[in-house]
Amino acid sequence: MPQEDHVYSYSAVLMGSPILLKLFQHNEHLAHQVFRLIKHYENLLTVNRSPSEVMNINHAAGLHPVVVNPAVYQLIKCAKAASLLPNSAFNLAIGPLVKCWKIGFQGSSVPPAGEISARLALTSPHQVILDDEQHSVFLAQAGMELDLGAIAKGYIADRVRDFLHSQQVFQGLINLGGNVQTLGGASQVSGTPWSVGLKKPFAGPDELIGVIEVEGKSVVTSGTYERWFEFAGKRYHHILDPRTGYPLDNELHSVTIVSQDSIDGDIWTTLMYGMGVEQGCACLANKPGIEAIFVTKDRRVVLSSQQLFTFTLQDSSYQLV
Ligand code: AMP
Ligand code: MG
Repeated sequence: MPQEDHVYSYSAVLMGSPILLKLFQHNEHLAHQVFRLIKHYENLLTVNRSPSEVMNINHAAGLHPVVVNPAVYQLIKCAKAASLLPNSAFNLAIGPLVKCWKIGFQGSSVPPAGEISARLALTSPHQVILDDEQHSVFLAQAGMELDLGAIAKGYIADRVRDFLHSQQVFQGLINLGGNVQTLGGASQVSGTPWSVGLKKPFAGPDELIGVIEVEGKSVVTSGTYERWFEFAGKRYHHILDPRTGYPLDNELHSVTIVSQDSIDGDIWTTLMYGMGVEQGCACLANKPGIEAIFVTKDRRVVLSSQQLFTFTLQDSSYQLV
């Protein structure tokens, strides 16, 4: 009989989110190193307080380029590329709009239409000028602001995975507030997947629609229920449509992406949000490494394909398509 595995869980609050690390060894030193690594990247990438590398770029908008650390540069380059995809709903320069909606922060309100259109004019990803030689970033117009909130956790989850690999740890799980990256399976016995819950929108924290099972994959969810406020009977959530300046409004409550790298999951949830179920599934038909689970407002769970994971529906008020 194989010995029973013991999973050791370590938690912290970083980047405004609960962080959970699971290991198959009791190793507080390693957990501490992981949390320190996350803190290191948070300090580079945050736009919620100064100083950070990204804040330095934002403060220099319209003035001069800022040389940044090579990792930050590569992340910004990747975020710009995602923003320039045809019809992309992802926009790394969405900062001025995020700041005026303040969704998830104190004082959120529906901004006047004039303010939204004025801020929209400051969000062109083409105006994020990159210099590969200098590793510098220049926001060409004063008032522009980068916001890497839609990509940072995915990027960091991958760095945690790489760090654990460098420490010869090939099994574990890191959950950065809904961005999950798994290493190997959930047991030293091979073939045991990790279970990741698919949350039921606008329900209690432990209420699930179903369970996603993966091994060595990332599972990232973006949902309208994560951060929102209500005004005059209407809900406004935190995923903004860079074409209108208002929260993306379609048939979706959430999108989950299963992929190898969490950075892809973090980007593709936003891209899929913008496309919706039909166009999203058509797009992913040509992308074998990226699979989506859409949860619609009319309680359908739509799987784009199912090569990388298994899904078990638990809530019979939802229909699996
Ligand atoms: P996520 O939880 O990965 O969906 O990221 C949401 C966060 O990304 C928001 O809280 C904003 O900071 C930022 N954001 C909102 N809308 C967009 C967008 N269309 N493109 C890129 N980032 C966005
Ligand atoms: Mg994201």
